[in-house]
Amino acid sequence: MGNELKDLSKIASLDRAIEIADRIWWVGRYIPDDVFQCHCYLIEQGDQSVLIDPGSMMTFDHTLQKIESIIPFDQIKYFICQHQDPDIAAAMPTIDAMIDRPDACLVTHWRTHMLLKHYNLKMPFWLVDEQDWYLPLEDRALRFVLTPYAHFPGAICSYEEQTGILFSSDLFGGISDKFELVARDEGYFETMRPFHEHYMPSREVLNYAMSEVERVAPEMIAPQHGSLIPKWLIEPMIRRLKNLECGLYLLSRGETDIKHLSQLNQTLRQITETMMLSRDFKDIANRLKEVISHNLPIVSLQFYALFSGDKVLHLSPDTRYRGVEVKPGPEVEEVLGADRQQWQHIAAEEWGREDYCQITHSRGADIYIPLFAPGRGTARALAILHLREAVEINSDLDQVVRQLTMPLQVAVDREVVYRVMDMERRKIYERSIKDSLTGLFTRLYMQDVVQRLCEIQDREPSYQVSAVMLDIDHFKSVNDRYGHNRGDEVLKKVAQKILSSVRDSDMPVRFGGEEIIVFTAGKSTGQVSLLAERLRMGIESLEFEGLEEHGPVTVSLGTAMRQSGESLNNLIERADRALYLAKESGRNRVVNDSVEETSA
Ligand code: GH3
Ligand code: MG
Ligand code: MG
Repeated sequence: MGNELKDLSKIASLDRAIEIADRIWWVGRYIPDDVFQCHCYLIEQGDQSVLIDPGSMMTFDHTLQKIESIIPFDQIKYFICQHQDPDIAAAMPTIDAMIDRPDACLVTHWRTHMLLKHYNLKMPFWLVDEQDWYLPLEDRALRFVLTPYAHFPGAICSYEEQTGILFSSDLFGGISDKFELVARDEGYFETMRPFHEHYMPSREVLNYAMSEVERVAPEMIAPQHGSLIPKWLIEPMIRRLKNLECGLYLLSRGETDIKHLSQLNQTLRQITETMMLSRDFKDIANRLKEVISHNLPIVSLQFYALFSGDKVLHLSPDTRYRGVEVKPGPEVEEVLGADRQQWQHIAAEEWGREDYCQITHSRGADIYIPLFAPGRGTARALAILHLREAVEINSDLDQVVRQLTMPLQVAVDREVVYRVMDMERRKIYERSIKDSLTGLFTRLYMQDVVQRLCEIQDREPSYQVSAVMLDIDHFKSVNDRYGHNRGDEVLKKVAQKILSSVRDSDMPVRFGGEEIIVFTAGKSTGQVSLLAERLRMGIESLEFEGLEEHGPVTVSLGTAMRQSGESLNNLIERADRALYLAKESGRNRVVNDSVEETSA
């Protein structure tokens, strides 16, 4: 005797009875193309066996065959009707005529009894409320839970203690045109939603039933419609049902088309699935477009989102949703940053709703959905659905939009965060390679790049690497006389002059305070001297307002040509030595390192 639930992932056929747990069988009939499957369950207990919600005359033949494949039908003693609907009780007169054991009985609640007695059955009633809500069986027991709901205040659920299965009747039932015996994921909520919206009178009543279910803490839920719900899905399903606004049947009576509802469900369910399965924004957007194309004449989807400051990110199919910074048009600008009141004012001008509005134009129509940041009253982003033609604004559209809004908010927010992070990363990278004051490369970055230049030279000697090192003359006195800020300005202007005087392939580096090295490759000694001389003259001719007393700003320069195999440090040291000599011999001049001269 085990109490385990069965692995239902490999069900061969719905034409046979299916054992969902130890001696508990699904004996329903699968009807193709019916969105409303009715299930019936058998608890095998020798001659005290139990049949739960025996059901519909549309399915009873099959149920009977399936039961007979397990036990003889007359071994069933208890027939439970968890409420009185025809899909649960219509077969009772037929059963009553078949059964000839005097102890067989119909198990139900007294309120249900008040109605079922009109079948005028010979079978006696066994009322749960008179029997302490408890039915002991051969090797287990059933406990009954009063879950008054919907159309009937006497509805009960039956809880099998040993396996922890709750037979929940209409609660947790679903309608779907894709029948699955076991619910796969949270998307199952979308098949439950319309059923509960239409069959539960109010959220209060549904919440009461849910809290009763929570008290028994089931291991599995076996509803009369829809799919079996495994334990891990029970908590999220209850949580979402508790928040479901229901009683909508009052509004839409007469226009309820179950097929249509089912298509809508499918869309709503797929929207949720898309958001759960995809992380990549492009995938989300493309998939959503496909999903909602069943309900809307959608051409494309695009998004605008505010990010850092008043910058706006545009995510559109043109850039494969890569996201580019744009200056949006006035309509978009009007929505971004608007608070709810402003938005309602904008929406009221078009024939829109509180959640969205439709703007028609010659090429079709656009649906604008503002995405308000959670906890903040302003629209941080805007989703635009481009349609081939305007659509009727009705409750279906409301539902699709409502379903889209939250997950889109999350997806767009996430995307914006990625962008901001990416920008920060790029800024940090820029900062690590370029000095912020002068725009010259940093010493850290230089190390790597020049090292590589040297390696090339070692393979290919004509690719001569050389260093031109320069230092501003008497720079300290600029600082001392005119202040550090003026000093900065001078340094910046000198750097700019250098940047504009060298080629892209040269590498000007801020080496120390006001010491700069230009690395260059592929030049002869003469060309390097010329470059140094050009820099010297260029800087000397710069004009600085207010520095007249100081005289022209000049630099001294030392150059060195790299020997094959020479280390970078050594090359720099030689350039530094030449620079020192330039300073020593009077400043504002170029000195070439002698090692190079002797080897030239
Ligand atoms: P010399 O001709 O011998 O080079 O004389 P000098 O005054 O330029 O002397 P030295 O090169 O030794 O001094 C450099 C000075 O440059 C010292 C430091 O205060 C200043 N300095 C270094 N980095 C900066 C900077 O980023 N901004 C400013 N304003 N001054 C700097
Ligand atoms: Mg100096
Ligand atoms: Mg110096």
